Amino acid sequence: MDELFVLHLNFQEDAPVYHVTPAQRRSVNQLSEEEQIKIAKRIGLIQHLPTGQYDGSKKIRECVICMLDFQIGDPVRFLPCMHIYHTKCIDDWLMRSFTCPSCLEPVEAALLSSYDDGAQ
Ligand SMILES: [Zn+2]
Ligand SMILES: [Zn+2]
Repeated sequence: MDELFVLHLNFQEDAPVYHVTPAQRRSVNQLSEEEQIKIAKRIGLIQHLPTGQYDGSKKIRECVICMLDFQIGDPVRFLPCMHIYHTKCIDDWLMRSFTCPSCLEPVEAALLSSYDDGAQ
């Protein structure tokens, strides 16, 4: 599965820029194989976070990443800490930092512990 992701990343025509660390901004073609695998794994983890549409019922009314109010029907992603963000905003954020921008809770730890629960 990871290998498929890597191949896909390699052959994208417009070579999107991925953020390996906040300080680095490089084209995917310049990434080492190890970094590409890391990115593919992270994309896989992000895909496990639930998404939905903003329905106005949440107490959170603003996406703290882009500072815009949510509109009914906006595609949003839910983090394990119950904070919500625009799907586009949080996906981009999580590629750089795998923590919640509001409470700084590590998303990966929460994901991994939920996997553990499922296995037991
Ligand atoms: Zn946003
Ligand atoms: Zn949070």
